[in-house]
Amino acid sequence: MIRNRKDLAKVKRIVVKVGTSTITYPNCSRNFARIDHLCRELADLHNKGLEVILVTSGAVAVGSERLGLKEKPKTIPGKQAAAAVGQGILMNTYEKLFAEYGQIVAQVLLTRTEVLDRHRYTNSRNTFMELLKQGVIPIVNENDVVALDDLKIGDNDNMSALVAGIVDADLDILLSDIDGLYTANPKTHPDAKLVYEVREITPEVEASAGAAGSGFGTGGMFTKIQAAKAATSSGISMIIASGTEPNAITRILQGEQLGTLFISRENRLQFRKRWLAFGSRIEGSLTVDAGCAKAIRRPGGSSILPAGIKDVSGEFEAGHTVSVRDEDGNELARGLTHYSSLELEKIKGHKSSDIVSILGEKTYDEVIHRDDLVIL
Ligand code: GLU
Repeated sequence: MIRNRKDLAKVKRIVVKVGTSTITYPNCSRNFARIDHLCRELADLHNKGLEVILVTSGAVAVGSERLGLKEKPKTIPGKQAAAAVGQGILMNTYEKLFAEYGQIVAQVLLTRTEVLDRHRYTNSRNTFMELLKQGVIPIVNENDVVALDDLKIGDNDNMSALVAGIVDADLDILLSDIDGLYTANPKTHPDAKLVYEVREITPEVEASAGAAGSGFGTGGMFTKIQAAKAATSSGISMIIASGTEPNAITRILQGEQLGTLFISRENRLQFRKRWLAFGSRIEGSLTVDAGCAKAIRRPGGSSILPAGIKDVSGEFEAGHTVSVRDEDGNELARGLTHYSSLELEKIKGHKSSDIVSILGEKTYDEVIHRDDLVIL
């Protein structure tokens, strides 16, 4: 468990994510100096005894360059074709360089399907574990060629948090073209300061990252904060740092004050809860009153009863994953609901003892049991 920078020296299993802008030039060609440094550094850490998983972007950019396109394609088939061309080139580059440093690599392409489905999630974990056992460095990217819309994770920041959850990593390091989280957008606020440590991702922290799409960096700070939220809420700490800093990973692991460290909220979640927080699809949401919001955050937690629910949105069935929000709309938790949205519309605000008279039957007293609830 990482509580501060000193604990980073104890890390055994890391996920490192590199963004397109870190490993390619603006004209989409590969930045061999960077890729070589990265492979050399990771190989060295692996030789020291660390288990390493690399999540890499860049397939679309590298494919666009090979296809002689003037700019990155805008259409989905165009992007997918470029990714199909680029992924092979990317792997070829990693394979050659890692082999130079005595490492075996494996290509792992994932989509959201692997995380939505519990069996596939468990199965992909088994593959990762076997690869790590055999001393292999898995190299992960989204399977852009087949992933579409709602089956797409969409950005490798969130992908790396998912992978960190699947393999139960100690730390997830995101290397990109920004130094970390600033108190405000440094491009528009020159007095913005780098935040070295975040213990809780409050609405203020989210606000300092800006809205989706306003990104000042690949994927934008917004997706990085989303990823940090997913990772830290299930017990995995995350670091966002600059990929241009020489030997950033090694220096971070030596405790040097580089980038922003997001400290995980609680002890490791069980594998099932991690799937809930990271993987499952959110089908709707429940708004709870202040009393309920407070109760679920207490140490030891609390289940959600119909009485605490003020509003229900979305259409979902019993067994689906829903997000739990406070009255200001902030997401507090995610959990598996025992009741459908239609049933909840009828029983919200009522005592559990009234459920039978309202619905004609009662399957559970609680809407979400505390064991099926992950606090974010
Ligand atoms: N999978 C995409 C690629 O390799 C990148 C996604 C991202 O940049 O987050 O080009």
